[in-house]
Amino acid sequence: MSSRILERLTRTLSFRLNVWYALVFIATSASLYSFMYLMLSSAMETKDREAIEAQLKEFSKIYEAGGLRALLQWTDAGSEGRRGKNYFVRLVSPRNEAALVSVPPEWVEYQSSEVVLGGRRLHVKSPYLRIPRDGERDMTIGAMPLFDGSLLQVGRMTNNRETLLEPFRRTFFMVMLPVLALALVGGAVFAYRATRPIRQIVAAAKSIIDTGKLDARVPAVQSNDELSELARLFNHMLDKNQALIRGMRESLDNVAHDLRTPLTRLRGLAELALQNPTDTEQTTGALADCVEESDRVLTMLRTLLDVAEAEAGVMRLNLERWDVCSLLEEVLSLYDYVAEEKRITLVPELQRPCFSTIDTPRMRQVFGNLLDNAIKYTPEGGTVTIRARSEPGAVVIQFRDNGMGIPFEEQGKIWDRLYRGDKSRSQRGLGLGLSLVKAIVHAHQGDVQVASLPGEGSVFTVRLIDRPAPPDAKSPPG
Ligand code: ADP
Repeated sequence: MSSRILERLTRTLSFRLNVWYALVFIATSASLYSFMYLMLSSAMETKDREAIEAQLKEFSKIYEAGGLRALLQWTDAGSEGRRGKNYFVRLVSPRNEAALVSVPPEWVEYQSSEVVLGGRRLHVKSPYLRIPRDGERDMTIGAMPLFDGSLLQVGRMTNNRETLLEPFRRTFFMVMLPVLALALVGGAVFAYRATRPIRQIVAAAKSIIDTGKLDARVPAVQSNDELSELARLFNHMLDKNQALIRGMRESLDNVAHDLRTPLTRLRGLAELALQNPTDTEQTTGALADCVEESDRVLTMLRTLLDVAEAEAGVMRLNLERWDVCSLLEEVLSLYDYVAEEKRITLVPELQRPCFSTIDTPRMRQVFGNLLDNAIKYTPEGGTVTIRARSEPGAVVIQFRDNGMGIPFEEQGKIWDRLYRGDKSRSQRGLGLGLSLVKAIVHAHQGDVQVASLPGEGSVFTVRLIDRPAPPDAKSPPG
Protein backbone atom coordinates (compact mmCIF):
# COMPACT_ATOMS: atom_id res chain seq x y z
CA MET A 1 0.00 0.00 0.00
CA SER A 2 2.73 2.42 1.10
CA SER A 3 4.90 1.41 -1.87
CA ARG A 4 1.89 2.18 -4.13
CA ILE A 5 1.56 5.66 -2.62
CA LEU A 6 5.32 6.18 -3.03
CA GLU A 7 5.12 5.03 -6.65
CA ARG A 8 2.23 7.42 -7.34
CA LEU A 9 4.09 10.23 -5.57
CA THR A 10 7.26 9.72 -7.60
CA ARG A 11 5.19 9.93 -10.79
CA THR A 12 3.78 13.36 -9.93
CA LEU A 13 5.00 16.52 -11.61
CA SER A 14 5.60 18.25 -8.27
CA PHE A 15 7.89 15.40 -7.15
CA ARG A 16 9.93 15.64 -10.33
CA LEU A 17 10.07 19.44 -10.05
CA ASN A 18 11.19 19.08 -6.46
CA VAL A 19 14.01 16.69 -7.37
CA TRP A 20 15.18 18.93 -10.20
CA TYR A 21 15.06 22.00 -8.01
CA ALA A 22 17.03 20.25 -5.22
CA LEU A 23 19.65 18.95 -7.69
CA VAL A 24 20.16 22.35 -9.29
CA PHE A 25 20.28 24.05 -5.90
CA ILE A 26 22.86 21.59 -4.52
CA ALA A 27 24.99 21.66 -7.69
CA THR A 28 25.01 25.47 -7.63
CA SER A 29 25.91 25.63 -3.93
CA ALA A 30 28.66 22.99 -4.34
CA SER A 31 30.12 24.83 -7.36
CA LEU A 32 30.08 28.11 -5.48
CA TYR A 33 31.76 26.50 -2.49
CA SER A 34 34.44 24.84 -4.67
CA PHE A 35 35.03 28.07 -6.58
CA MET A 36 35.59 29.98 -3.34
CA TYR A 37 37.96 27.23 -2.12
CA LEU A 38 40.00 27.34 -5.33
CA MET A 39 40.17 31.15 -5.29
CA LEU A 40 41.39 31.19 -1.69
CA SER A 41 43.93 28.42 -2.19
CA SER A 42 45.32 30.00 -5.39
CA ALA A 43 45.58 33.43 -3.70
CA MET A 44 47.54 31.89 -0.83
CA GLU A 45 49.80 29.94 -3.17
CA THR A 46 50.57 33.11 -5.14
CA LYS A 47 51.41 34.91 -1.91
CA ASP A 48 53.86 32.12 -0.88
CA ARG A 49 55.52 32.13 -4.28
CA GLU A 50 55.95 35.88 -4.23
CA ALA A 51 57.58 35.66 -0.79
CA ILE A 52 60.00 32.97 -2.04
CA GLU A 53 60.79 34.92 -5.21
CA ALA A 54 61.59 38.03 -3.14
CA GLN A 55 63.85 35.94 -0.90
CA LEU A 56 65.59 34.33 -3.89
CA LYS A 57 66.34 37.76 -5.32
CA GLU A 58 67.66 39.05 -2.01
CA PHE A 59 69.93 35.99 -1.45
CA SER A 60 71.21 36.10 -5.03
CA LYS A 61 72.18 39.76 -4.58
CA ILE A 62 73.98 38.92 -1.30
CA TYR A 63 75.82 36.04 -3.03
CA GLU A 64 76.75 38.19 -5.97
CA ALA A 65 78.11 40.89 -3.70
CA GLY A 66 79.87 38.82 -1.00
CA GLY A 67 79.97 35.24 -2.25
CA LEU A 68 79.34 32.11 -0.20
CA ARG A 69 80.70 33.69 2.98
CA ALA A 70 78.23 36.56 2.92
CA LEU A 71 75.40 34.14 2.19
CA LEU A 72 76.53 31.95 5.11
CA GLN A 73 76.41 34.94 7.39
CA TRP A 74 72.76 35.49 6.51
CA THR A 75 71.74 31.94 6.87
CA ASP A 76 74.11 30.75 9.64
CA ALA A 77 72.23 28.65 12.14
CA GLY A 78 74.05 30.25 15.00
CA SER A 79 73.36 33.87 14.24
CA GLU A 80 70.19 35.06 15.84
CA GLY A 81 67.97 37.61 14.12
CA ARG A 82 69.04 36.72 10.59
CA ARG A 83 66.42 37.53 8.08
CA GLY A 84 66.52 34.21 6.31
CA LYS A 85 66.11 32.02 9.35
CA ASN A 86 62.56 30.95 8.47
CA TYR A 87 63.68 29.79 5.04
CA PHE A 88 65.28 26.64 3.89
CA VAL A 89 68.31 27.67 1.78
CA ARG A 90 70.55 25.43 -0.34
CA LEU A 91 73.24 26.38 -2.78
CA VAL A 92 74.12 23.70 -5.35
CA SER A 93 77.47 24.21 -7.04
CA PRO A 94 77.92 23.74 -10.83
CA ARG A 95 79.42 20.34 -9.96
CA ASN A 96 76.14 19.38 -8.34
CA GLU A 97 77.43 19.52 -4.78
CA ALA A 98 75.58 21.15 -1.89
CA ALA A 99 77.82 24.14 -1.06
CA LEU A 100 75.47 25.50 1.57
CA VAL A 101 72.48 24.09 3.39
CA SER A 102 70.48 25.95 5.99
CA VAL A 103 67.37 24.42 7.58
CA PRO A 104 64.99 26.43 9.77
CA PRO A 105 64.68 25.11 13.33
CA GLU A 106 61.07 24.00 12.96
CA TRP A 107 62.06 21.74 10.05
CA VAL A 108 64.22 19.58 12.34
CA GLU A 109 61.54 16.96 12.66
CA TYR A 110 61.79 16.25 8.95
CA GLN A 111 64.09 13.67 7.53
CA SER A 112 66.80 16.06 6.62
CA SER A 113 68.34 13.67 4.11
CA GLU A 114 65.42 14.15 1.80
CA VAL A 115 65.57 17.87 1.88
CA VAL A 116 69.14 18.69 2.72
CA LEU A 117 71.17 15.95 1.19
CA GLY A 118 69.18 15.09 -1.82
CA GLY A 119 71.91 16.62 -3.96
CA ARG A 120 69.72 16.56 -7.04
CA ARG A 121 69.72 19.60 -9.16
CA LEU A 122 66.16 20.81 -9.62
CA HIS A 123 64.73 21.43 -13.02
CA VAL A 124 65.22 25.14 -13.46
CA LYS A 125 62.35 25.65 -15.93
CA SER A 126 59.90 24.55 -13.27
CA PRO A 127 61.50 25.97 -10.19
CA TYR A 128 58.73 25.34 -7.66
CA LEU A 129 58.54 22.16 -5.76
CA ARG A 130 56.14 21.20 -3.04
CA ILE A 131 57.18 18.38 -0.75
CA PRO A 132 54.31 17.07 1.35
CA ARG A 133 55.57 15.55 4.56
CA ASP A 134 53.15 13.98 6.90
CA GLY A 135 49.84 15.08 5.50
CA GLU A 136 49.67 18.08 7.82
CA ARG A 137 52.72 19.97 6.79
CA ASP A 138 53.56 21.39 3.46
CA MET A 139 56.38 23.40 1.96
CA THR A 140 57.09 25.31 -1.22
CA ILE A 141 60.57 25.50 -2.70
CA GLY A 142 61.77 27.87 -5.40
CA ALA A 143 65.06 27.81 -7.32
CA MET A 144 67.10 30.35 -9.27
CA PRO A 145 70.27 29.91 -11.39
CA LEU A 146 73.08 32.20 -10.23
CA PHE A 147 75.65 34.12 -12.28
CA ASP A 148 78.40 31.48 -11.70
CA GLY A 149 76.28 28.50 -12.75
CA SER A 150 75.24 27.53 -9.20
CA LEU A 151 71.64 26.91 -8.31
CA LEU A 152 70.05 28.63 -5.34
CA GLN A 153 67.07 26.96 -3.69
CA VAL A 154 64.86 28.67 -1.15
CA GLY A 155 61.98 26.91 0.62
CA ARG A 156 59.34 27.93 3.09
CA MET A 157 56.76 26.16 5.22
CA THR A 158 53.29 26.67 3.94
CA ASN A 159 51.45 25.09 6.85
CA ASN A 160 49.47 28.26 7.45
CA ARG A 161 47.84 27.71 4.08
CA GLU A 162 46.69 24.27 5.12
CA THR A 163 45.60 25.60 8.52
CA LEU A 164 43.18 27.88 6.72
CA LEU A 165 42.09 25.59 3.89
CA GLU A 166 41.65 22.42 5.90
CA PRO A 167 38.59 23.62 7.94
CA PHE A 168 37.16 24.90 4.68
CA ARG A 169 37.29 21.37 3.26
CA ARG A 170 36.10 19.79 6.49
CA THR A 171 33.02 22.00 6.73
CA PHE A 172 31.95 21.18 3.13
CA PHE A 173 29.70 18.30 4.15
CA MET A 174 28.54 20.12 7.25
CA VAL A 175 27.40 22.99 5.03
CA MET A 176 26.03 20.73 2.31
CA LEU A 177 23.72 18.76 4.60
CA PRO A 178 21.60 21.79 5.63
CA VAL A 179 21.76 22.97 2.00
CA LEU A 180 20.34 19.60 0.90
CA ALA A 181 17.59 19.80 3.53
CA LEU A 182 16.80 23.38 2.53
CA ALA A 183 16.74 22.42 -1.15
CA LEU A 184 14.35 19.52 -0.54
CA VAL A 185 11.97 21.46 1.71
CA GLY A 186 12.15 24.63 -0.43
CA GLY A 187 11.71 22.56 -3.59
CA ALA A 188 8.69 20.75 -2.16
CA VAL A 189 6.99 24.00 -1.14
CA PHE A 190 7.86 25.66 -4.46
CA ALA A 191 6.70 22.66 -6.55
CA TYR A 192 3.49 22.28 -4.53
CA ARG A 193 2.59 25.95 -4.94
CA ALA A 194 3.59 26.08 -8.62
CA THR A 195 1.51 23.06 -9.59
CA ARG A 196 -1.61 24.07 -7.64
CA PRO A 197 -3.49 25.38 -10.75
CA ILE A 198 -2.79 22.05 -12.50
CA ARG A 199 -4.23 20.09 -9.55
CA GLN A 200 -7.27 22.38 -9.56
CA ILE A 201 -7.77 21.86 -13.31
CA VAL A 202 -7.50 18.09 -12.83
CA ALA A 203 -10.02 18.26 -9.94
CA ALA A 204 -12.49 20.31 -12.04
CA ALA A 205 -12.15 17.94 -15.01
CA LYS A 206 -12.59 14.88 -12.73
CA SER A 207 -15.67 16.38 -11.12
CA ILE A 208 -17.24 17.02 -14.55
CA ILE A 209 -16.44 13.48 -15.71
CA ASP A 210 -17.65 11.86 -12.46
CA THR A 211 -20.84 13.86 -11.90
CA GLY A 212 -21.72 14.90 -15.46
CA LYS A 213 -22.42 18.41 -14.14
CA LEU A 214 -20.84 21.11 -16.26
CA ASP A 215 -20.69 23.83 -13.60
CA ALA A 216 -17.37 22.81 -11.95
CA ARG A 217 -14.75 25.56 -12.31
CA VAL A 218 -11.14 26.20 -11.27
CA PRO A 219 -11.03 28.73 -8.38
CA ALA A 220 -9.99 32.18 -9.57
CA VAL A 221 -6.32 33.15 -9.01
CA GLN A 222 -4.92 36.64 -8.99
CA SER A 223 -1.46 35.98 -10.45
CA ASN A 224 -0.58 36.40 -14.11
CA ASP A 225 1.70 33.43 -14.75
CA GLU A 226 1.19 30.83 -17.47
CA LEU A 227 -0.52 28.27 -15.23
CA SER A 228 -3.01 30.86 -13.94
CA GLU A 229 -3.63 31.85 -17.56
CA LEU A 230 -4.19 28.16 -18.36
CA ALA A 231 -6.70 27.92 -15.47
CA ARG A 232 -8.53 31.03 -16.75
CA LEU A 233 -8.61 29.67 -20.32
CA PHE A 234 -9.82 26.31 -19.01
CA ASN A 235 -12.69 28.05 -17.19
CA HIS A 236 -13.46 30.07 -20.30
CA MET A 237 -13.52 26.89 -22.39
CA LEU A 238 -15.86 25.25 -19.86
CA ASP A 239 -18.16 28.31 -19.99
CA LYS A 240 -18.27 28.08 -23.79
CA ASN A 241 -18.82 24.33 -23.78
CA GLN A 242 -21.60 24.68 -21.22
CA ALA A 243 -23.29 27.39 -23.31
CA LEU A 244 -22.91 25.28 -26.47
CA ILE A 245 -24.28 22.15 -24.84
CA ARG A 246 -27.16 24.13 -23.32
CA GLY A 247 -27.84 25.64 -26.77
CA MET A 248 -27.72 22.20 -28.39
CA ARG A 249 -30.13 20.78 -25.80
CA GLU A 250 -32.51 23.71 -26.28
CA SER A 251 -32.27 23.39 -30.08
CA LEU A 252 -33.00 19.68 -29.83
CA ASP A 253 -35.99 20.36 -27.57
CA ASN A 254 -37.24 23.05 -29.93
CA VAL A 255 -36.79 20.85 -33.01
CA ALA A 256 -38.64 18.00 -31.29
CA HIS A 257 -41.39 20.41 -30.27
CA ASP A 258 -41.63 22.03 -33.71
CA LEU A 259 -41.62 18.72 -35.55
CA ARG A 260 -44.32 17.25 -33.34
CA THR A 261 -47.05 19.61 -34.61
CA PRO A 262 -46.64 19.02 -38.39
CA LEU A 263 -46.04 15.29 -37.87
CA THR A 264 -49.18 14.96 -35.74
CA ARG A 265 -51.13 16.82 -38.41
CA LEU A 266 -49.56 14.65 -41.09
CA ARG A 267 -50.68 11.54 -39.20
CA GLY A 268 -54.19 12.96 -38.73
CA LEU A 269 -54.48 13.71 -42.45
CA ALA A 270 -53.24 10.24 -43.40
CA GLU A 271 -55.77 8.68 -40.99
CA LEU A 272 -58.54 10.77 -42.55
CA ALA A 273 -57.56 9.57 -46.01
CA LEU A 274 -57.55 5.95 -44.80
CA GLN A 275 -60.97 6.22 -43.09
CA ASN A 276 -62.84 6.85 -46.36
CA PRO A 277 -60.64 5.55 -49.19
CA THR A 278 -63.67 5.55 -51.51
CA ASP A 279 -64.20 9.28 -51.03
CA THR A 280 -61.69 10.37 -53.66
CA GLU A 281 -62.24 14.07 -53.08
CA GLN A 282 -61.50 13.83 -49.35
CA THR A 283 -58.56 11.49 -49.98
CA THR A 284 -57.04 13.80 -52.61
CA GLY A 285 -57.44 16.82 -50.31
CA ALA A 286 -55.87 14.95 -47.38
CA LEU A 287 -52.93 13.81 -49.55
CA ALA A 288 -52.39 17.36 -50.85
CA ASP A 289 -52.27 18.58 -47.24
CA CYS A 290 -49.85 15.77 -46.42
CA VAL A 291 -47.50 16.96 -49.18
CA GLU A 292 -47.73 20.54 -47.89
CA GLU A 293 -46.94 19.45 -44.31
CA SER A 294 -44.06 17.27 -45.51
CA ASP A 295 -42.66 20.27 -47.42
CA ARG A 296 -42.82 22.34 -44.24
CA VAL A 297 -40.88 19.67 -42.33
CA LEU A 298 -38.37 19.31 -45.15
CA THR A 299 -37.85 23.09 -45.39
CA MET A 300 -37.29 23.25 -41.67
CA LEU A 301 -34.75 20.40 -41.71
CA ARG A 302 -32.98 21.84 -44.76
CA THR A 303 -32.72 25.26 -43.12
CA LEU A 304 -31.47 23.70 -39.90
CA LEU A 305 -28.78 21.86 -41.88
CA ASP A 306 -27.86 25.07 -43.75
CA VAL A 307 -27.46 26.98 -40.49
CA ALA A 308 -25.40 24.18 -38.92
CA GLU A 309 -23.20 24.04 -42.04
CA ALA A 310 -22.64 27.81 -42.10
CA GLU A 311 -21.96 28.01 -38.36
CA ALA A 312 -19.45 25.17 -38.60
CA GLY A 313 -17.65 27.14 -41.34
CA VAL A 314 -18.11 24.40 -43.96
CA MET A 315 -20.75 26.11 -46.11
CA ARG A 316 -19.50 26.12 -49.68
CA LEU A 317 -19.85 29.58 -51.22
CA ASN A 318 -19.74 30.13 -54.96
CA LEU A 319 -18.45 33.66 -54.82
CA GLU A 320 -18.92 36.02 -57.75
CA ARG A 321 -18.75 39.73 -58.28
CA TRP A 322 -22.40 40.76 -58.42
CA ASP A 323 -24.57 43.86 -58.51
CA VAL A 324 -26.26 43.81 -55.10
CA CYS A 325 -28.86 46.39 -56.28
CA SER A 326 -30.08 44.20 -59.12
CA LEU A 327 -30.29 41.23 -56.73
CA LEU A 328 -32.40 43.34 -54.36
CA GLU A 329 -34.69 44.39 -57.24
CA GLU A 330 -35.14 40.74 -58.12
CA VAL A 331 -36.11 39.87 -54.50
CA LEU A 332 -38.41 42.91 -54.32
CA SER A 333 -40.27 41.78 -57.43
CA LEU A 334 -40.79 38.36 -55.80
CA TYR A 335 -42.46 40.00 -52.78
CA ASP A 336 -44.48 42.58 -54.72
CA TYR A 337 -47.58 40.43 -54.62
CA VAL A 338 -47.35 39.62 -50.85
CA ALA A 339 -46.80 43.30 -50.02
CA GLU A 340 -49.66 44.40 -52.24
CA GLU A 341 -51.97 41.90 -50.58
CA LYS A 342 -51.14 43.40 -47.20
CA ARG A 343 -51.23 46.96 -48.59
CA ILE A 344 -47.62 47.51 -47.60
CA THR A 345 -45.59 49.97 -49.63
CA LEU A 346 -42.13 48.80 -50.65
CA VAL A 347 -39.75 51.75 -51.14
CA PRO A 348 -36.46 50.86 -52.85
CA GLU A 349 -33.66 53.42 -52.35
CA LEU A 350 -30.80 51.82 -54.24
CA GLN A 351 -27.68 53.89 -54.90
CA ARG A 352 -25.83 52.44 -57.84
CA PRO A 353 -23.23 51.11 -58.34
CA CYS A 354 -23.04 48.66 -55.48
CA PHE A 355 -21.06 45.60 -56.41
CA SER A 356 -19.91 42.97 -53.96
CA THR A 357 -18.37 39.51 -54.01
CA ILE A 358 -21.18 37.17 -52.94
CA ASP A 359 -22.75 33.77 -53.31
CA THR A 360 -25.85 35.04 -55.17
CA PRO A 361 -28.39 32.28 -54.25
CA ARG A 362 -27.32 32.46 -50.59
CA MET A 363 -27.55 36.25 -50.52
CA ARG A 364 -30.96 35.98 -52.19
CA GLN A 365 -32.00 33.87 -49.18
CA VAL A 366 -30.68 36.57 -46.81
CA PHE A 367 -32.51 39.43 -48.53
CA GLY A 368 -35.64 37.30 -48.97
CA ASN A 369 -35.79 36.42 -45.24
CA LEU A 370 -35.24 40.02 -44.12
CA LEU A 371 -37.85 41.38 -46.53
CA ASP A 372 -40.27 38.59 -45.65
CA ASN A 373 -39.92 39.41 -41.92
CA ALA A 374 -40.31 43.15 -42.55
CA ILE A 375 -43.60 42.54 -44.44
CA LYS A 376 -44.74 39.86 -41.98
CA TYR A 377 -44.21 41.95 -38.84
CA THR A 378 -45.58 45.22 -40.26
CA PRO A 379 -49.32 45.84 -40.02
CA GLU A 380 -51.45 46.63 -43.05
CA GLY A 381 -50.78 50.01 -44.62
CA GLY A 382 -47.18 50.10 -43.39
CA THR A 383 -44.02 50.93 -45.30
CA VAL A 384 -40.85 48.93 -45.85
CA THR A 385 -37.82 50.80 -47.16
CA ILE A 386 -34.94 48.90 -48.75
CA ARG A 387 -31.71 50.86 -48.99
CA ALA A 388 -28.39 49.94 -50.56
CA ARG A 389 -25.28 52.05 -50.86
CA SER A 390 -21.55 51.65 -51.33
CA GLU A 391 -19.14 52.79 -48.64
CA PRO A 392 -15.36 52.65 -48.90
CA GLY A 393 -14.56 48.95 -48.65
CA ALA A 394 -18.16 47.78 -48.07
CA VAL A 395 -21.73 47.63 -49.33
CA VAL A 396 -24.44 48.44 -46.78
CA ILE A 397 -28.01 47.12 -47.18
CA GLN A 398 -30.87 48.15 -44.88
CA PHE A 399 -34.44 46.85 -44.42
CA ARG A 400 -36.45 49.42 -42.48
CA ASP A 401 -40.07 48.85 -41.48
CA ASN A 402 -42.57 50.75 -39.33
CA GLY A 403 -44.03 47.57 -37.89
CA MET A 404 -44.37 46.09 -34.40
CA GLY A 405 -40.68 46.37 -33.48
CA ILE A 406 -38.76 44.00 -31.20
CA PRO A 407 -38.65 44.35 -27.39
CA PHE A 408 -35.13 45.17 -26.19
CA GLU A 409 -34.77 41.94 -24.17
CA GLU A 410 -35.56 39.86 -27.29
CA GLN A 411 -33.13 41.60 -29.59
CA GLY A 412 -30.19 39.35 -28.57
CA LYS A 413 -32.19 36.14 -28.89
CA ILE A 414 -33.82 36.62 -32.30
CA TRP A 415 -30.63 35.28 -33.99
CA ASP A 416 -30.87 31.94 -32.15
CA ARG A 417 -32.10 28.87 -33.98
CA LEU A 418 -35.86 28.24 -33.58
CA TYR A 419 -36.38 31.36 -31.48
CA ARG A 420 -39.67 33.13 -32.12
CA GLY A 421 -40.73 36.36 -30.48
CA ASP A 422 -43.67 36.22 -28.07
CA LYS A 423 -45.87 38.43 -30.23
CA SER A 424 -44.87 36.70 -33.47
CA ARG A 425 -46.43 33.32 -32.72
CA SER A 426 -49.59 34.27 -34.55
CA GLN A 427 -47.58 34.66 -37.76
CA ARG A 428 -46.36 31.79 -39.93
CA GLY A 429 -42.68 30.94 -39.39
CA LEU A 430 -40.15 28.45 -38.07
CA GLY A 431 -37.86 30.74 -36.07
CA LEU A 432 -34.97 29.85 -38.37
CA GLY A 433 -34.90 32.82 -40.79
CA LEU A 434 -32.63 35.15 -38.82
CA SER A 435 -30.23 32.41 -37.68
CA LEU A 436 -29.79 31.50 -41.36
CA VAL A 437 -29.33 35.20 -42.27
CA LYS A 438 -26.64 35.62 -39.61
CA ALA A 439 -24.86 32.37 -40.54
CA ILE A 440 -24.75 33.22 -44.27
CA VAL A 441 -23.63 36.84 -43.70
CA HIS A 442 -20.90 35.65 -41.32
CA ALA A 443 -19.83 33.02 -43.86
CA HIS A 444 -19.32 36.01 -46.21
CA GLN A 445 -17.23 37.62 -43.43
CA GLY A 446 -19.87 40.32 -43.22
CA ASP A 447 -21.98 41.58 -40.36
CA VAL A 448 -25.71 41.94 -39.65
CA GLN A 449 -27.29 44.03 -36.89
CA VAL A 450 -30.69 45.11 -35.69
CA ALA A 451 -31.96 48.38 -34.25
CA SER A 452 -35.56 48.38 -33.12
CA LEU A 453 -38.12 50.21 -31.00
CA PRO A 454 -41.28 48.32 -29.99
CA GLY A 455 -44.32 49.86 -31.70
CA GLU A 456 -42.16 52.01 -33.99
CA GLY A 457 -40.38 49.57 -36.25
CA SER A 458 -37.07 47.83 -36.92
CA VAL A 459 -33.99 48.34 -39.08
CA PHE A 460 -31.88 45.36 -40.10
CA THR A 461 -28.46 46.38 -41.49
CA VAL A 462 -26.25 44.02 -43.50
CA ARG A 463 -22.66 45.10 -44.11
CA LEU A 464 -20.77 43.15 -46.77
CA ILE A 465 -17.07 43.89 -46.86
CA ASP A 466 -15.57 44.42 -50.29
CA ARG A 467 -13.45 41.37 -50.99
CA PRO A 468 -11.53 40.79 -54.23
CA ALA A 469 -13.39 38.38 -56.51
CA PRO A 470 -11.93 34.87 -56.73
CA PRO A 471 -10.12 34.21 -60.04
CA ASP A 472 -12.88 31.87 -61.34
CA ALA A 473 -15.73 34.26 -60.38
CA LYS A 474 -18.54 35.03 -62.86
CA SER A 475 -18.90 38.56 -64.10
CA PRO A 476 -21.85 40.77 -63.04
CA PRO A 477 -24.99 40.87 -65.16
CA GLY A 478 -25.46 43.45 -67.88
P1 ADP B 1 -39.70 33.69 -37.69
O1 ADP B 1 -39.92 34.96 -38.44
O2 ADP B 1 -39.95 32.48 -38.49
O3 ADP B 1 -40.39 33.67 -36.38
P2 ADP B 1 -36.98 34.59 -37.63
O4 ADP B 1 -35.74 33.87 -37.22
O5 ADP B 1 -37.02 35.13 -38.98
O6 ADP B 1 -38.15 33.60 -37.32
O7 ADP B 1 -37.19 35.76 -36.61
C1 ADP B 1 -37.07 35.54 -35.24
C2 ADP B 1 -37.93 36.51 -34.47
O8 ADP B 1 -37.45 37.83 -34.65
C3 ADP B 1 -39.34 36.58 -34.94
O9 ADP B 1 -40.13 35.56 -34.33
C4 ADP B 1 -39.78 37.97 -34.52
O10 ADP B 1 -40.16 37.97 -33.18
C5 ADP B 1 -38.49 38.76 -34.62
N1 ADP B 1 -38.43 39.58 -35.87
C6 ADP B 1 -37.70 39.32 -36.96
N2 ADP B 1 -37.83 40.30 -37.88
C7 ADP B 1 -38.64 41.21 -37.34
C8 ADP B 1 -39.17 42.47 -37.77
N3 ADP B 1 -38.85 42.99 -38.97
N4 ADP B 1 -39.99 43.13 -36.94
C9 ADP B 1 -40.30 42.62 -35.75
N5 ADP B 1 -39.86 41.45 -35.26
C10 ADP B 1 -39.03 40.76 -36.06
